[in-house]
Amino acid sequence: MSDLKITRLHKRYGLVPAVRGIDLDVPSGEFTVLVGPSGCGKSTLLRMIAGLEEISEGTIEIGGRVVNHVRPRDRDIAMVFQNYALYPYMNVFENIAFGLRARKTPQDEIQKRVKRAAEMLAITGLLDRLPRQLSGGQRQRVAIGRAIVRNAKLFLFDEPLSNLDAQLRDEMRSEIKRLHQELGTTMIYVTHDQIEAMTLADRIVLLKDGLIEQAGTPLDLYERPATRFVAGFLGSPKMNFIPADYVRDGSGAAVKFADGTALALPRGPEGNRPVVFGIRPQHFSRDPGSLSGQAARVRATVELLQPTGSRAFITFPLGGKPIMAELASHDVQGPGESLDLYMDIGRAVLIDPE
Ligand code: ADP
Repeated sequence: MSDLKITRLHKRYGLVPAVRGIDLDVPSGEFTVLVGPSGCGKSTLLRMIAGLEEISEGTIEIGGRVVNHVRPRDRDIAMVFQNYALYPYMNVFENIAFGLRARKTPQDEIQKRVKRAAEMLAITGLLDRLPRQLSGGQRQRVAIGRAIVRNAKLFLFDEPLSNLDAQLRDEMRSEIKRLHQELGTTMIYVTHDQIEAMTLADRIVLLKDGLIEQAGTPLDLYERPATRFVAGFLGSPKMNFIPADYVRDGSGAAVKFADGTALALPRGPEGNRPVVFGIRPQHFSRDPGSLSGQAARVRATVELLQPTGSRAFITFPLGGKPIMAELASHDVQGPGESLDLYMDIGRAVLIDPE
């Protein structure tokens, strides 16, 4: 059964379309991440699910009930915001308990639920403190605690980690993932950060200009991006793109680049056409045996070396374009060096030129 079903959803602010016809079905227990660049409509979509924004067209069902005109507090959702939204004059216990008191939950039940949430989030020692006596990470835990105690059908997260510094963000990300494993609650999580999306999601919904560009498991989108936008959005550093001619003749499939370089492909459809050849920096190696599939040898003259500890990024020209490859640091000396590299050619993607 699906906990959230969205049908042909639109939102217009005056004449400006922010969400332009979205269909989405979120099964019970799934962690769905809505991701995309700034302005793609992800907050608007989340706020419509929460009931904080009116719907222009379409329907939203939560737990099988159409909620288009149901007040936010009656929607069986709990929401965690970017700015925590804690009550400054209430201590941590009261902040977490607030939603339960508002629903007239019995006192002993409140005690029990707050205690359990605090234990799960490792903030038991902070229950008497006021929000201003907490660090950013601790405040975010309290905000999450407030959502947990509600036993809501749907948890909504609106960029909950974007105000935290990098290290804390990594920590809280693991924490949220662990919480989802423990609670098994359906979660909808908005972020512009592709790493958060890749690490947290059971399913990524990638939005662009108010529409779903592609939805699927993180691996699906990473390995089989439907468009250049998807290919470029997920993964870091970005996928390399080289304009090419795709040819398929008696000897098999191949791509030819503008500088005359040709690479044989393990498979490919019929027909010749212009394409964009995409290959990720991670899909290169100096050792063909370390690649999972068929290796294609390329000669690389290193133009730029960016070490990052045990791994290093090199930039070199291929097919007339500067390409990035990620190698083991000990495999590369520096600029000017000429290397034989192997590309995991089966993991290259061919995308239609835009
Ligand atoms: P995201 O969360 O992906 O950054 P938003 O959902 O905030 O995107 O915004 C989507 C589009 O709707 C943007 O073009 C934005 O400028 C517009 N928008 C958002 N909120 C309002 C508003 N209250 N009034 C007018 N336009 C808005």
